[in-house]
Amino acid sequence: MDRLVERLDRLRGPVAPRNHNARTIAALTSNPGCARRGVLDAAGVNKGELARHLGFPSGYGQSRFAIGRGNAFEAQVKADGCADLLHLLRERLGLAIPEVAYADLSTVGGNASREVRYARTRTLFARAAGRPDDAGTLFDHPMLRLEIAGYYAYLEPDLVAFRIGGRFHIVEIKSFAVVDGQADPAKAAAAARQAAVYVLALRRLVTELGFPADTVSHDVVLVCPENFANTPTATLLDVRRQLAVLERQLARITRIDAVLDALPEAMSLDLCYDDGAATRPPAEIAQALGAIDARYAPDCLGTCEMAYFCRHEAAGSTGALGRSVRDDLGGVDSVGTVLGLARGTLEPGTGQEEIAGLLRLAYRLRTECLGGVA
Ligand code: SF4
Repeated sequence: MDRLVERLDRLRGPVAPRNHNARTIAALTSNPGCARRGVLDAAGVNKGELARHLGFPSGYGQSRFAIGRGNAFEAQVKADGCADLLHLLRERLGLAIPEVAYADLSTVGGNASREVRYARTRTLFARAAGRPDDAGTLFDHPMLRLEIAGYYAYLEPDLVAFRIGGRFHIVEIKSFAVVDGQADPAKAAAAARQAAVYVLALRRLVTELGFPADTVSHDVVLVCPENFANTPTATLLDVRRQLAVLERQLARITRIDAVLDALPEAMSLDLCYDDGAATRPPAEIAQALGAIDARYAPDCLGTCEMAYFCRHEAAGSTGALGRSVRDDLGGVDSVGTVLGLARGTLEPGTGQEEIAGLLRLAYRLRTECLGGVA
């Protein structure tokens, strides 16, 4: 894997890699066929900066306000060695958690490198999993990693993990409100998908250590503010279904080494920062990116920073209209060709006869419905 890491470092250039988090992995698995996103994420490229430099700044991502509110709520729940959290686990969920220790893994002796933090996390979890009693420790900010498409993605988590009844549980702290016992379904679903990423990463860690995967529970503790006040409340979330989907999607992502082998060895996406400003000509970067296959779909607008660039690039292709349209028009890549076949101004190529017949029929019906207006 060292050669792969070297190649990815070269591709990114001399800037620190962006770590994954559960949100980015959940987004990555939403379009497993996109090699471009796979390479950019594997190399830890800052896609937001890249898109901005290319002239296609993204609207994707959390607002500063949402990030600030989330950080403040997380700090509140974790204050004083997670006092609020412990109260919730004991009082609201009725868990018989004994006196606990608290391990902050956000740095190790002042060293915040992800490899060092991961090694420390691994050591502490091995020690905890090997102990028969549940004399608990709350693990704050454990560094996890997940193998994706042949490389290790480090997960920058904002979570706490603890052990009870011989099993580890993940705690997800979210700042969206639970009102009268109900959370926004879309936000709760996204939280469940993200929590599943952490459960999977922690399960991979414990299995590497020789313990069964179900040492990590599929029940996640979701902590949110209750009824628009900042008082935290906790619920248990079963993420088995999200885990199954995640594992299936991860298995579908094209291996990164196979994608890189098809690219020029010297290719780089380095923006060549000078005094904080990117100096590489955008056209050069766009050309380099063009060598990596993308699979744009309208869903990208809500999941990827590169969406406006890729949409511009895909303009005129049937793929830009969405996966279902692309699948329905299988084998016809351009919107111009679709219109030509429908109007009968183009002859179908080999293999296009059936779809051309359907397009002509649809076009005739549409024209009749519009009273002869084509
Ligand atoms: S926006 Fe572009 S890079 Fe991102 S997932 Fe879509 S096609 Fe891939």
